[in-house]
Amino acid sequence: MPFPTGESITYREALTKHIDLYAPLTKKLLTAMAPLCESQEDKALLEESVSKGNTKFEELFHKRAVGLLDIHSIVPSLRLTADFIFQKCPLIMPRYYTIASSSLTHPEELTIAVSLSRYEVTIGETKTMRDGLVSGFLEDIFKGHKDGEAYTQSVMTFVKNSNFDMPESHDVPMIMVGPGTGVVPFIGFMQERQTAKTNDPELALNQAHMYFGCRRHDQDFIYRDEMSDMKEKNIIAELNLAFSREPDQEKVYV
Ligand SMILES: Cc1cc2nc3c(=O)[nH]c(=O)nc-3n(C[C@H](O)[C@H](O)[C@H](O)COP(=O)(O)OP(=O)(O)OC[C@H]3O[C@@H](n4cnc5c(N)ncnc54)[C@H](O)[C@@H]3O)c2cc1C
Repeated sequence: MPFPTGESITYREALTKHIDLYAPLTKKLLTAMAPLCESQEDKALLEESVSKGNTKFEELFHKRAVGLLDIHSIVPSLRLTADFIFQKCPLIMPRYYTIASSSLTHPEELTIAVSLSRYEVTIGETKTMRDGLVSGFLEDIFKGHKDGEAYTQSVMTFVKNSNFDMPESHDVPMIMVGPGTGVVPFIGFMQERQTAKTNDPELALNQAHMYFGCRRHDQDFIYRDEMSDMKEKNIIAELNLAFSREPDQEKVYV
């Protein structure tokens, strides 16, 4: 079949790799679906949900976080055709992850830090938790890898240049502020400074101060060892920490 990506692919490939079956349903999509309902009741429900000022869209679709895969729990007589799915339904969009490693330190590989996204979905009367599409997919690969499984499939990835750069000269002092996964690029910056210093022991590094914040030190304090190590080695002059949900302690934010 011809596909918006420009190539011919199988239905299976399209449904498993390109169509976003979990993405939030839009009013535009529901409007286009209404004529495909076999029962007048379901058709009327979709038309009512998308009508201006009606709260049904919010109650039935948005709050419940239903995607294409779950819509039959609301309008069971909907008969989606292949043409409709492939022409009108959303494609999986890329997700961005910041590179957490320096290419000077690791020229042949890169690392990322992924925070698992989770949200509640209501199907009929049942509430269930669903993982974010890409962070959940990466979590599954990570778990498999820990259990010794090899990942053999291919996924589409690309590297996009960022304009968030480290100062070109190590003479420039730095203040780095990273809440949660916001600290990720600075891990690469610290590696870069350490490798530059190892390569040239005479190199004078100007001061770098790191501010990191998360909820609890025992739950989401990522890169704890790396940051402490960099402090000990004087790659960063200061490590300032802020925890916003420590039991019996004042909330501190970066
Ligand atoms: C420049 C940039 C850099 C980034 N760097 C990082 C990084 O280093 N590390 C990192 O962890 N993340 C990073 N992100 C965020 C990352 O790109 C993803 O957005 C994040 O991982 C969630 O993607 P997902 O596919 O797992 O979740 P998705 O499936 O996209 O879901 C995300 C959220 O959308 C909502 N949602 C999804 N489906 C529905 C539905 N049907 N109905 C209602 N709500 C719904 C939920 O609230 C859910 O938690 C970055 C983003 C940008 C733009």
